[in-house]
Amino acid sequence: MDVMGLLPSEGWEKVADRPDEGSFRGRGDGQVEGFMTNVAIVTGGSRGIGRACAIKLAAEGYTVVVNFAANAAAAEAVVAEIAKAGGKAVAVKGDVAREADVAAIFAAADKLGPLKVLINNAGIMDKVARLDEMTLERLTRIFAVNITGSFLCAREAVKRMSTKHGGTGGAIVNLSSAASVLGAPAMGVDYAATKGAMDVLTIGLGREVAGEGVRVNAVRPGIIDTEIHDSAGMPGRVQKMREQIPMKREGSADEVADVILYLCGPQSSYVTGTIVAVAGGRC
Ligand code: NAP
Repeated sequence: MDVMGLLPSEGWEKVADRPDEGSFRGRGDGQVEGFMTNVAIVTGGSRGIGRACAIKLAAEGYTVVVNFAANAAAAEAVVAEIAKAGGKAVAVKGDVAREADVAAIFAAADKLGPLKVLINNAGIMDKVARLDEMTLERLTRIFAVNITGSFLCAREAVKRMSTKHGGTGGAIVNLSSAASVLGAPAMGVDYAATKGAMDVLTIGLGREVAGEGVRVNAVRPGIIDTEIHDSAGMPGRVQKMREQIPMKREGSADEVADVILYLCGPQSSYVTGTIVAVAGGRC
């Protein structure tokens, strides 16, 4: 494993290089271009759904930027797992709500090769609350991370992928949620509203750049077994919800990542501006 220098801002990055640089070929869109592989950025790639996406994209041959907010050990573990499997990844610290951090994340990607994929995955939930209990601080933070962060990352991706800007196309996949349809009453209407915004970003931006080689889609996960429920103060939520899910079980991060990979790859070449539910029939 090789350690690259610090990013221009406060960023932090750690790289795992494949021993056979240039000869590795993935099965999907991350083919080798000369000696540079295509690059995928996964925001919040250190844990949960983002982690699963990072590992699968690396297996497809992409060089993956594994962005994280605070948990460097988790991000390093993802990079190490990718390296062990013969892939290439770099961990980059950055809060997507901060424009300077977003610039640093994309600058790190620029050093690695042409950006072809953005997974707009980083997202947070706050503690269970009714709207009449929510503080301005809470609302500002969740909108900043889940909406503004996703918009900033999508903007930077379009600047690199769009044929209008000299790019050769690419795919953006946004993380919506069943909450955008169900509203998350008495739990987190703020969170649900941010995911509604992701739906609109997907439809609007998808149409905006459809003629410029960039496809924009979203997945709408239901109850997925990750740590987000515990961090929102709802331990055991996944198990408690099983009876309310038509398929009578939660989903896994891998099951969501598989649909995300489809939306990044050539099999979905005529799919844009749409949202695919991965929710066991719940929405
Ligand atoms: P998770 O397990 O809690 O992981 C969240 C990831 O996002 C971590 O890698 C975390 O980094 C990163 N992150 C958090 N805030 C960030 C920020 N400001 N800037 C950059 N990275 C940040 O979450 P998950 O369940 O995998 O959820 C991933 C996405 O799917 C989210 O957008 C979520 O809303 C959506 N989703 C999840 C479910 C579900 O049931 N799990 C359902 C519907 C939608 P650190 O490791 O450094 O903290």
